[in-house]
Amino acid sequence: MPRKLTIILDPGHGMGNRKPGVYDPGATVLVGKEEITEAGIVMDWANELKVQFEALGCKVIRTRINSSDVCPISERVPIAHKYGGDVLLSLHCNAADGKANGTETFYRGASNEPLAKACNAAIVSSLGTKNRGLKTENQSQHSRLAVLGFPRACLIELGFIDHATDRARMQDQQMMLLACQKLSEAVVHCLNT
Ligand SMILES: [Zn+2]
Repeated sequence: MPRKLTIILDPGHGMGNRKPGVYDPGATVLVGKEEITEAGIVMDWANELKVQFEALGCKVIRTRINSSDVCPISERVPIAHKYGGDVLLSLHCNAADGKANGTETFYRGASNEPLAKACNAAIVSSLGTKNRGLKTENQSQHSRLAVLGFPRACLIELGFIDHATDRARMQDQQMMLLACQKLSEAVVHCLNT
């Protein structure tokens, strides 16, 4: 029987992410009068992923558990180490010009490529998003992504929050459930092989 895996889920952004006491919503979009935030969408996903990973017998630690939970970006990798994480999955949404769409996954180092590939494929096949493929962190807007400092990690850009179809897919409860099931199965398979 495989040993129990510890999964670190990192819903991107949130309270104190970049500045103490300031809530970082990540990318935002106004739909009617409602502001949809990246930090909110990825928190919903982390909550569902927690359920799915636990159903597979994993232990799950989230770097932040709600919108008031303080978690500076510099603390996220230390949290993953502290809890003995086998993998860190950071969840984000992209934003661009309202036209760009699709799913992409960032990784650091060749050893993380299979993990990133499996995660990206799980999301694309579940949400039906365009496959933007895998990217190394120097292809990101930030050139170095702190969370990828964890030895086994990837950062998944689920879709574009400012693209109506991508946003609807990320917010659809059934699609999210399916994607979280597929993603958790893919990650567990990847870690056990
Ligand atoms: Zn983000």
